[in-house]
Amino acid sequence: MGKARILILGGTTEARRLAEALAGRADLDIVLSLAGRTSDPAPQPVPVRSGGFGGSEGLARYLTDEAFDLLVDATHPFAARISANAADAVSRCGVAAFALRRPAWQPMPGDRWHAARNVPEAIAALGPSPRRVFLAIGRQEAHYANAAPFHHYWVRSVDPVEPALTVPDVAYIHAKGPFRLEDELAMLRQYGIEVIVAKNSGGSATYAKIEAARQLGIEVIMIERAQAAGLAVVETVEAALHHIDHLASSLIKRGV
Ligand code: NAP
Repeated sequence: MGKARILILGGTTEARRLAEALAGRADLDIVLSLAGRTSDPAPQPVPVRSGGFGGSEGLARYLTDEAFDLLVDATHPFAARISANAADAVSRCGVAAFALRRPAWQPMPGDRWHAARNVPEAIAALGPSPRRVFLAIGRQEAHYANAAPFHHYWVRSVDPVEPALTVPDVAYIHAKGPFRLEDELAMLRQYGIEVIVAKNSGGSATYAKIEAARQLGIEVIMIERAQAAGLAVVETVEAALHHIDHLASSLIKRGV
């Protein structure tokens, strides 16, 4: 029996959960791809490759050379470049593909959200007077806070922000989700946070800060997602598994 080869573009909890569910299946060969940004990535249940492909052309070449039958883009909703590359690559090389992307959070009664389109816009939306800001947008774009150096910042990320911000008042919190509501409530109270800057990532692992902000009446500058790239989207690992079963059986029937 032939095996269907699947490349999962990962770096998310969902990608790891999908890989876990597919590991050990006799009809599939799975490779998980990571960008290689995290210094201490979580152990993965399937073979991993790490680092960029060299744009969409590089990804198309990799898919062809390694004879993949299916690409699953399970990257983070804010990893826009790799998702655009994935859509472009499969349109070049004709490999089947879909995206696994968790739905965005929706505002609930009591939420005080202010929408922003990107990080610079979110920093500008903090306004002209000094505020106590919890910056929860990851380390790569934290430097945009340098444009508003008069706020007091608490910056949370998995790995250190390098280079450090140039603002005079900043504290760094190194932590990896999932985060618990009681811990987020305690932290927001302890630092006297007045406003949170967050990305609308969706999912449960980082939602506790949003719920905590609602309970404490704290404003959230919510950075919304850009328009997703052109692949068909499923929202849950279960739906992805269903899709893969369907595709795998047709690939194997074709004698791939
Ligand atoms: P990005 O801006 O969309 O991608 C930048 C470049 O990194 C891509 O062009 C590609 O390089 C490489 N790359 C990204 N993801 C890759 C993957 N899974 N495998 C191989 N190469 C990859 O991505 P990003 O926002 O820096 O995110 C990097 C990784 O962190 C992704 O795996 C993402 O799922 C994860 N992540 C991102 C966020 C976020 O807020 N952005 C949050 C949590 C996790 P080439 O062009 O050379 O192929």
